[in-house]
Amino acid sequence: MYSKLLIDFQTKFMQIKKFYGFIFSIALVAFLAISSFNSGSSTASTNPIDSSSSSRLITQASPGEFTLPPLPYAYDALDAYIDSQTMTLHHDKHHAGYVKNLNEAIAPYPDLQGLSIEELLRDLDNVPEEISATVRNNGGGHANHSMFWSIMTPDSPGQPTGEIAEAINTTFGDFESFKEKFNTAGKKRFGSGWAWLVMNEDGTLEVTSTGNQGSPLSEGQYPIMGNDVWEHAYYLKYQNNRGDYLDAWWNVINWDEVNNRLTTAKSWFE
Ligand code: MN
Repeated sequence: MYSKLLIDFQTKFMQIKKFYGFIFSIALVAFLAISSFNSGSSTASTNPIDSSSSSRLITQASPGEFTLPPLPYAYDALDAYIDSQTMTLHHDKHHAGYVKNLNEAIAPYPDLQGLSIEELLRDLDNVPEEISATVRNNGGGHANHSMFWSIMTPDSPGQPTGEIAEAINTTFGDFESFKEKFNTAGKKRFGSGWAWLVMNEDGTLEVTSTGNQGSPLSEGQYPIMGNDVWEHAYYLKYQNNRGDYLDAWWNVINWDEVNNRLTTAKSWFE
């Protein structure tokens, strides 16, 4: 009786061992295949700066070729505050257009290729006069919108967290005072532009605003977070009520990513 049970057990054990051995081999082969694929593609990267922080510094597929980053959530994910049609047109048409125009403008200038979009905007003085306005508008549009998608999420805690929460309290008194100051900057921007929380070179934080697709990077500042106040960002849902859109926007902020950008801002000025 016991010996039969023992034999049954041993047979089962051998079957299980074979089965898991087989699964392990498959997993090992898959792992090796993926590893070699990744190491092959990373050696093709030409931009040394963004290899370690691709979410913060925007990568280029090849020198001189900027790419439209995919939305990190579904088009309808922020629907309660920003409708999916706005998100679709804004990302797929407006942002895609900036990327296309930027690539066309810098194509004849090998010296500019291989720079990150942040470097390009920081040193606009180095950009040839004939494409300077195009790079300011479309390069700014690319950087601003890449930041914009990344700092939003359907899973916002609603309040700042971590280091940025402390920095906001220290600089502006409290979160409500900061929001009011930021929203006022957005409301007072005549025409199209952005409201910003930026870091200055001396490490202080400041609420600012730029017109059109102006980037704080071109003003010697690092953009920690910004809201798009162009009508294309809100008109379908909010019509002329820019203030309602500015109020609603705080419900979709990804404070983890804002904290990442605060860290990047510090290293930007080192
Ligand atoms: Mn926009």
